[in-house]
Amino acid sequence: MSYAIAPWNLPSVPVAGSADRFPVRHIYCVGRNYAEHAKEMGGDASKEPPFFFTKAADSVVPVVPPAIGSIHYPLGTKNLHHEIELVVAIGGHGVKLAPERALEIVWGYAVGLDMTRRDLQNDMREKKRPWDIGKSFAGAAPIGPLHPVIAIGHPAKGRIWVDVNGSRRQSGDLAEMIWDVPHTLHFLSQYYELMPGDLVFTGTPSGVGAVVAGDRLDGGIDGLGTLSLSIAPPLV
Ligand code: MN
Repeated sequence: MSYAIAPWNLPSVPVAGSADRFPVRHIYCVGRNYAEHAKEMGGDASKEPPFFFTKAADSVVPVVPPAIGSIHYPLGTKNLHHEIELVVAIGGHGVKLAPERALEIVWGYAVGLDMTRRDLQNDMREKKRPWDIGKSFAGAAPIGPLHPVIAIGHPAKGRIWVDVNGSRRQSGDLAEMIWDVPHTLHFLSQYYELMPGDLVFTGTPSGVGAVVAGDRLDGGIDGLGTLSLSIAPPLV
């Protein structure tokens, strides 16, 4: 096969303890999956079915500790927020999955940041326009190494946190998710055929807030290591 223009490398995420990389097909994200975060976003904590949005695969910024990742402060925003999240990597096919079977297609887990242009997201939401522009952009999905299920199993509890410049900003526990991973995949797979290479960001605990150029973020999840990121000045 020949391409009409030079092709680019597949977006990919490193695998912990291996030279292999996990190719990224599609990035799904869950909105408001921790009760305290739902409240801070102006919603309530009632157990409605989850809702979903997506990020382009080229939003991925792979970060391998001890390296510190870097993104440019994104274009078009004055309010860039951090959302620390458990990321699920899909290794099988799944459509209309029963919650009891959903974990069978999970390949691994990682720490990720759902970076958000909150001013643009809120603007679009108020105008009843799509809020992709707030969620999918260059640098929007920093992610640490993937830990395979065969090595770590399926984390259902454990601390999740992020510090900004050494101060704790977000702190929670995976057990506080409104919809756990099996139910999240159950709902998501009612709308999409999940495929190998898909990533699912599973929502963030409370404490989201703004970062600016020069800031340093250090996040982590028990058992999945850490993810460090610095915010560089805007590209232009
Ligand atoms: Mn999020």
